[in-house]
Order: sequence, then structure tokens, then C-alpha cells
Amino acid sequence: MSAEIELGADDVRAARALLQWSQADLAKAAGVGVSTIADFEKGTRTPIANNLSATRRAFEVAGVTFTPTGPTIYSELSLYILTQTGGTEMRFRYAAEGATAVQDVVSVFGTTDGNTIELDAVQSASPALKGSIDKLVERHGGAVPQLNKLKQIIGRLADGEYFLLLPAQPETSAGRLEVERFLHGLNHPDEKPEGDELFGVLLTHYDIANPRTDRLTVIGKDLLPRRCRFCNRTSADGATFKKAAHVIPTALGNDHLKSAQECDDCNEYFGCDTEPSLIAMLDIQRVFLGTQGRGKVDGRPKLWFGEDVLVHDGSKVNITAQTVRHDPSGALTVELGKGASLTPSAVYRALTKMVLSVVADDQLPFLKETINWVRHTPNTDRLLPKVATAVVFLPPDPSAQLTVYTRRAPHPRLPHIVGEFRLGCYMYVFAVPFSQQDEWDLVGYFDEEDFQATFKHYALAGRWDHQDLSRQSKVSMTPRLKFVPKTK
Ligand SMILES: [Zn+2]
Repeated sequence: MSAEIELGADDVRAARALLQWSQADLAKAAGVGVSTIADFEKGTRTPIANNLSATRRAFEVAGVTFTPTGPTIYSELSLYILTQTGGTEMRFRYAAEGATAVQDVVSVFGTTDGNTIELDAVQSASPALKGSIDKLVERHGGAVPQLNKLKQIIGRLADGEYFLLLPAQPETSAGRLEVERFLHGLNHPDEKPEGDELFGVLLTHYDIANPRTDRLTVIGKDLLPRRCRFCNRTSADGATFKKAAHVIPTALGNDHLKSAQECDDCNEYFGCDTEPSLIAMLDIQRVFLGTQGRGKVDGRPKLWFGEDVLVHDGSKVNITAQTVRHDPSGALTVELGKGASLTPSAVYRALTKMVLSVVADDQLPFLKETINWVRHTPNTDRLLPKVATAVVFLPPDPSAQLTVYTRRAPHPRLPHIVGEFRLGCYMYVFAVPFSQQDEWDLVGYFDEEDFQATFKHYALAGRWDHQDLSRQSKVSMTPRLKFVPKTK
């Protein structure tokens, strides 16, 4: 926070008015006595420093920013508009007085009900919509200049042409391809190949979050005071936030996606307890992908399996192994020694932890047991669903990607939260266990009819393996690599 404005009685009254809080509401949020607030506003008593800063914090947590001209509320609405010719990211950052403008924008594309905004993903550039946008620009174009850009984008579309309105740009290549195909299908119903409407089914059931990993993204960086998602502490409770908490371990090639809501203690716990298992499980994959981490050999992995060594030299993988068998068919089999040990359930917890780092704040209250399992009580007797893995086409950017699907409404058989982790061509799909929004243990969810009908794009991957990661003791991998000569 830069240059703090000293909080005066007028600021407190004005901020309460913005939030429509009573003195009692504020007292409760700040954890101070009602009389403290009442006396301060009357000017009869200045609160002690602690109470004053607690009052400020309560307002800031609720979204109030104190500026020299008085308190205001900033909010942000971001949209990703995908047309046939490309996508545009738009961010509307607005103070309280701009809220009506944004509400007007929303009402053109969907509905608002109190604090809930419902935008329809599928939009048509009808003459009526173009007319509404013209009116928006007339009314708010001065205060919200992005509207002019919006008008340009929609104005270029043919009457009735479909476009998509998404909460964020799809991050995974598979996701992007799917959305583009879906849009193409809408605009070219005659040539629509079978199965292309399926992303629409997914969008009706799930919100999809793809935090960007190609540039610095810090989850929760604007939320003050900082509160750790995993131990629920703030600095007032003794938590420190000195280290950059990576959402995806750097050994898996991510240096961009970070969290401001993970304290140093929790960061250390995950770094020692859970993440090494995930990294060990992906040893073979990251060697073959040449995943750039930090450290030795230009950050490229050099791994020991017993006496055997696998190293990616920047262009190819060099294998030094004791046991190499030549098959009469021409195939070559390399039996590697023992790799790094890992705890299967820690792999599951590490995958889940990444999701917990990026899932929307309003979902966290339903995930208390999940957080407890990931951070505090790793051993559980409860059943865990299996983790689905597949090899998919290699995207141009083989760095780690994370996609989080959050169910939009209650459903008896679809998981509340599904995570998708992708390292190059290796994809892991898993349900986040122990959510209060799930009424069952999710075991076998992947093969459920409802899941298959909703996540149809996973059928494109072909073969899925289902790994049981419930084991709570250490195991070691002794991988066997088989190289088969290309025929024809
Ligand atoms: Zn913590």
C-alpha cells in the first residue's frame, strides 16, 4: 500500500455509507467495540492505534480504498471476447461511481442478480446488440474508454455472427482449440463435425479458470491484509509472506504463476512434504521434455536412477544405463535403477494444492476439509478417487499448465472441482476430494455418464489410465523405457 491516508471520522462515515454498513457491522468486521466507532465518528474520542488500523483493515478487506478525495470502491470485471478472427481480453476496473456503467455493460450481455453476475457465454452480434452497445458508448464511453474498443470488435462482426464471452482466455492449447472449434461450429452449422458442441455443455456446468503461466500472474495480490489460504493466518497472527510462493513447482518449469496468499510456513511445508513427490513422479517426463527448472545443467534436469543417468542437454536426452536389451524386433529396452522415492498420496495432495491456490476465493469455505488434508493431516482413511492420466498432442509451449473447473450449480454426480494439470504432452485430470459441495466420495467419477457427457473433450485424448494415488507410504520407481523403431 502506498502513502496511507490518515483515517478521519469523515472517512469512516463515508466508507460505511459506501458499504451500507451500520456502526455495529463495522465494529464486528474490525473486532472493536461499537462505542469505539460511535465515539470516533462523533469526534469525542480517537481510537488507539491498534483499533484504528483494525478499522482500516476491515474496510480494505471489503474493497474500500482510501484516497485523498475520500474512500472509494474499486472492482474489476474481466472478459475475454472470442470472435472468429481472434480473442481480446478486456478489463473494466471501476470505482463505486462507475459501477452503474459496468452494470449496464453486464445487462447487455447477461443478467445481474444482487452480487451475482451471469453472463451468457454464447452471444450473437444481432443488430439489437450492436444498438445496445452504441447506447453504452454514448452513455459511458467517456468514463469507460474500453467500451469504444468493444464497439469496434462487435461492429466488425456480421449481423447474427456468433462470438463467445468467457471469463478468461483459455490457457491450455486443448482448451483454446476446443473453444475455437465450438465457435466455428456455431457459425458454420452445415460443416459442423459431430461432437463439436460439447464445450458448450461444459460451459453450462462449469466455470473454467486458466491462470496465465506465460507472464507474471500473482493470485490474490490486491487482497489486503494478506491471509494464507492454507493456515488462514494473517501477519497479525504471526504469518510472514517474504518468499514468493509458486503455484506450480519451479522444477516443473513455472516461474510466473505465484500466490500472495500462501505464507512462508505453508510454502516450506509444501516444498518439503508434498511437491518433491509430484516432481519425482514427473522425473521421466521432465527429462524428455527438457523442462527448464532452476539450478544445474542450465536448469535442465539431470536425474539418477540408481547408477543410471538421464540428462537433457538442451537438444536431446542422453541415457547412460547398465541394462539395455536389444529385441529381435529391433526394439530397445532400458531398465533403469531406482529413482527418487515418492509418496503417492503426496502427489495427489500436491496436485490438489495447486488447485486450492488458484480456485476462486468464494469456494474456499467449502474446501476446509480439503485444505486440512493438504496442509495439516495428510493421512486419511477416506477413499480417494483415481487420477486420470493421458498422453495428448505436444503443444508448442511445453511448460506446465493448470486448469480449474468449478461447478456452477449443485449436481449429484459431477464433482464440485476438477483440476487438470498438464506438463507438455502429459495430462493429469483429478477431482478435488472432500468438498462440502460433493455429496459422495467421487470414486469412479471419471467414468460416470454425466462426467463423460460434460467433459467430452477428454475423449479426444484417446486412452486414459487411472492411477490409484491413495498409498500413504513411500515408493520408488524403477522405470523401463522401451524404444521401438519407426516402421514404414
Ligand atoms: Zn500458511
